[in-house]
Parts: sequence; C-alpha cells; structure tokens
Amino acid sequence: MKAYKFRLYPSAEQERKLNEQLELCRHLYNGLLEQRITAHKMGKKIGYVKQANELPELRREMEDYREIHSQVLQDVAKRVDRAYQNFYRRVKEKKTGKMQKAGFPRFKPMTRYRSLTYTQSGFHLLENGHLKLSKIGELRMFMHREIEGEFKTLNISHDSTGKWYASFSVMPGKVANVSEETGKSVGIDAGLLHLTTMSDGTVIEPPHFLMKSERRITKAQRNLSRKVRGSRNRRKYRVRVARAYEKVKNQREDFAHKLSNEIVQNNDLIVFENLNIRSMVKNHHLAKSIADASWNTLVQYTIYKAESAGKLVVSVDPGYTSRTCSNCGYEKESLKLSERTFHCDSCGYEIDRDLNAAINIHNLGLIKVGRGTPEVTPVEISALPARATLIGEAGSPVP
Ligand SMILES: [Zn+2]
Repeated sequence: MKAYKFRLYPSAEQERKLNEQLELCRHLYNGLLEQRITAHKMGKKIGYVKQANELPELRREMEDYREIHSQVLQDVAKRVDRAYQNFYRRVKEKKTGKMQKAGFPRFKPMTRYRSLTYTQSGFHLLENGHLKLSKIGELRMFMHREIEGEFKTLNISHDSTGKWYASFSVMPGKVANVSEETGKSVGIDAGLLHLTTMSDGTVIEPPHFLMKSERRITKAQRNLSRKVRGSRNRRKYRVRVARAYEKVKNQREDFAHKLSNEIVQNNDLIVFENLNIRSMVKNHHLAKSIADASWNTLVQYTIYKAESAGKLVVSVDPGYTSRTCSNCGYEKESLKLSERTFHCDSCGYEIDRDLNAAINIHNLGLIKVGRGTPEVTPVEISALPARATLIGEAGSPVP
C-alpha cells in the first residue's frame, strides 16, 4: 500500500462540521469502549460485529450521527476492536517477557482523537483536484502529485497546529510506473548529518530551505524551554514548535519523494546501509535524529517505488564501509569522524571519505546479489567477510 498525503483547506463551515464529527466519533469510541468494559464485568463478551450492527440503530435514535457517513462510524468500531486486539497481543507478549506493560485500551481525550476514516466510499476526487466528502461538501485540496493505483481508504486528520490533511492509502495497480531497465546500480551512503553520497560520485545536499527550517526548530525549542510552565506564552511557543516540526516533516517528505524518484529511475539495483544497525550507534542530538529520520523516509520511499518499478533494493552492514579501502580492500584500524579524506595505508589510495563508503556499500551489494565487480578480484571478495544482507526483493521490510 502506498500513502499519499495532501493538505486540505476546509472553509470555516466545513471545519466546524469536521470538528463536530470528530467529537461525535470520539464520544462513540469512548462509548463503545465503555460498553465492552461493562460487558466484560458481567462476564459477557462483545465483539466488533455486534457493535457494528448496533450503529444503524444509533443513527435512528440520535440525529447527529445521521450526519456522519456510515463507514466512518464503522471505522470507529474497528478502532476500538483494534485497540483490544493490540491489548491482547501485548498481554501475550508480556507473558513471554517481550513486553513490560500490557496497557489496557484507554478512553480518548480530544487531543488524542484527530481523524476520521472513510474505508471505501463516501469520498471522491474531483476533476479540479479537490475532494468531495459525503456530508461535508467539496474541500479545497492541494494535490502536489498524481495518485496512481486503486483507492483503499481515506483518512481525514488535523494536527496540533490546526492544519487539515487527507491521506489516501492506495493499492499500487498496474498503472504504477514501471521504469525501464537502466543496467545501472548504485550504493548510497548516508554520510554525516545531511549529505547523501552515491557510489558514482554524486553528492546530494538537501535544499537550503529544509536546513533553514531545521535550524528554526532548534531555535523555537530553545525559546520554549525558557517560558514559564503553564503560562500563556508557553502555550503560544508550543504551537510554534509544533508548526516548525510539521513544516520540516512536510519539506523532508517532499525532498525524499523527489530524490527517491530519481534513484529508482536511474538504477536497477540500489544498495543502502542497514538502518537498524545504524540506529544502534546513534546518539541523541536533535540534529542527528532529524538526519536519521530523513534517511529513514528516503529509504522507505525508495523501497516502495522500487517495488512498483520492479527494481531491487539491498541493504548491507554499515560496520566497516567507512574504514575499508574501496580500492584494495585493506581495513584501517579506525577512522576519526574529523578525517574527511580516506587515505589507504596499504595502497596509498586517497578518496573522499563518504564516496569511499558509498563505493564499499555498492560493492557489498553487488557481491550479495551475485554480481561481483570487475574492480574486485575473487580473492579479495572472499577476503571480505559476509557482511552484506540481502533484504530480498524490493519492498520487503528492512530487517
Ligand atoms: Zn587501499
């Protein structure tokens, strides 16, 4: 499933209706939860089917609920059901020691109930790119890219800053773009902080505005921390921080979309470093976590685009990619973060640190898919320990 998220611009009246529906759905959610708890206390069990079957009656009895699309109401019952399923799963995991606390499903306060879901119908896209919602009307939408595939669900949500969004989940159909075979492959190094270096020597810097927005977050957060707890000022600044985060998130997603498009279009095989191993060595600086998050987004997008384009994504262990010579395979004891140039003590090769890593990543990926490079002789391949991990066909989850 692919997800497409677009900003919505409801009119004041539409926003009022949306908020009203959210509030009604939240009451319904809490009511359904209450019903299950009460039944449980009396030794009975109520499941999704029974609760969903009661919804038409609710619509007959309470006029307000008639103003909400029936699927949206059914989805509320599904949410309660999912909360229960997750709870049971956690109880099980607790028994096997995987989980500390099971955490019973909780009643939702307003701040934690922020979206409505249309599961199949009740919405459609208009010619002008706007969105028609049953019972709400035609909403202005900023559709910054085409949707390809078959609609599954639509989620209407708003964030803490009051912005509204429409997220479509789409089953990529046959219309999905199958890019031509290029005969090319690439290794990609996440580099320090922001720079992305490709094994062919391309260096990609995120757009300037993105870095500017990220700096704004740091500043906004510093301002927030100086405000007195519980004060009006503090509330104001909290909204500012939330806005800054939201903006960066959107810009980052946009950037990742463009970059992943390019990567998938230009290559048949794409090699990344394994993220999970990477995150184990991560520190807790804000800038670093932002960089990691962008990296995650880029990898996720590349994986799903590669899947619909019929291309392959492979991940490799990042452990030795920085300090191995991409020319002769010699492994340095260590390489300081400040050393921007890799200098090989064995063959004298000198190369940019990130490019060296990207080439190693690429080579490990090629070996893993059984396409060793001409630059590396078989003896040297066997000297390289099996550090590459094939994550299977593109699209399978990163291990
Ligand atoms: Zn060397």
